[in-house]
Amino acid sequence: MKLFEHQSASLFREFGIPVPEARTASDPDGAAVIARKFGGVCVVKAQVLSGGRGKAGGVKLVSSPAEAREAAEKIFAITVQGMPVGTVQVSRAVEIEKEFYAGMTLNRNTRGVEFMFSAEGGVDIEETAANHPEKIIRLPVDPFHGVDDTLLRGALGPFFDAGLLDRAVSIIRNMGRLFFEKDCSLVEINPLALSSGSLVAVDAKIVIDDNSLVKNADLEAFRNPEEYGRDEIDARNAGLSFVGLDGDIGCMVNGAGLAMATMDLIKHFGGFPANFLDIGGSSNPQKVVDALEILLRNKKIRAILMNIFGGITRCDDVARGVILASEKIAIPVPFVIRLIGTNDELGRSMLKEAGFSAYSDLNDAVRRVIEDAGRGRKG
Ligand code: GDP
Ligand code: MN
Repeated sequence: MKLFEHQSASLFREFGIPVPEARTASDPDGAAVIARKFGGVCVVKAQVLSGGRGKAGGVKLVSSPAEAREAAEKIFAITVQGMPVGTVQVSRAVEIEKEFYAGMTLNRNTRGVEFMFSAEGGVDIEETAANHPEKIIRLPVDPFHGVDDTLLRGALGPFFDAGLLDRAVSIIRNMGRLFFEKDCSLVEINPLALSSGSLVAVDAKIVIDDNSLVKNADLEAFRNPEEYGRDEIDARNAGLSFVGLDGDIGCMVNGAGLAMATMDLIKHFGGFPANFLDIGGSSNPQKVVDALEILLRNKKIRAILMNIFGGITRCDDVARGVILASEKIAIPVPFVIRLIGTNDELGRSMLKEAGFSAYSDLNDAVRRVIEDAGRGRKG
């Protein structure tokens, strides 16, 4: 779950990471009002769920309310990486002497959280990472103890005098607390600005692991509809986990891991999944109907594969659910079902009798659905 800069900054404040004073506005007049209240030089920034705003013209320094209005007008008119701007943030401008980069994220290779730091922060950090990887320091982060103090001070020492080093270390400690307490998958400060002898987080970027929201229910308020398509929102309301993709084979699977494996196999045999969809406990006909409704909205879909591994869920219940669902909703594309587990033979024979393609072997089912999708394709 991606947060807007102003949402991320509010968590920074909560965790003791210094950020400039800022307010948000949803129109140019609102931006002018904030700039008048702050006085002096301000920064107007697009609030979008992506970085690269500076390069896209979404960050403007202004020195009067009239300039703030004008800057906001321009920013509301642009898109940043395809995303329209619905809100701007106006902050008190920071005088920047130097821009550092500080971030924490998951490293799949080390299977742990990693702290990254660079003395060459700012809008070109991606280029630095690509062309000068040696300029990015990487240190492991322990979930209980954060970054090892000696390692951290050793790594950052060359860039700061003693006083600033303590400040930097405290910001990084707070970053680690935020990362683990709020179950983040990314916390990024770029730039971490050196300004009149102190450090300020001039930009704030946080991504939260959605699966943790049961623990941190308050973070639900940070969820932004801009991040999701209509299908994903409807799926969540129906208790399904859905991610749209751009292939033509609709997938319905019980269990997230099995859903990933199913998509892998479709690709392995040369097909293209149209979505990830975990229907969870799958014998409930209403869930099957809800899932089919969402899948079938996608006009690209040429065939559907349902893959069920029946454990506690009995395969004859699943078959009954599918048959009931097919009476409630027309399925205008080939529908291939792979059923295995408890009572699978009974389930398959019920489905075959009702006119569906039912398989026990997943390879067979995947080959079949790819063949069906190819046959259904026009042009
Ligand atoms: P991003 O491009 O989406 O990462 O947006 P940022 O908030 O990081 O802003 C981009 C750049 O604008 C920063 O790297 C700074 O160089 C500059 N910038 C942003 N806020 C301020 C500010 O308060 N003062 C100054 N001098 N520059 C700023
Ligand atoms: Mn930035």
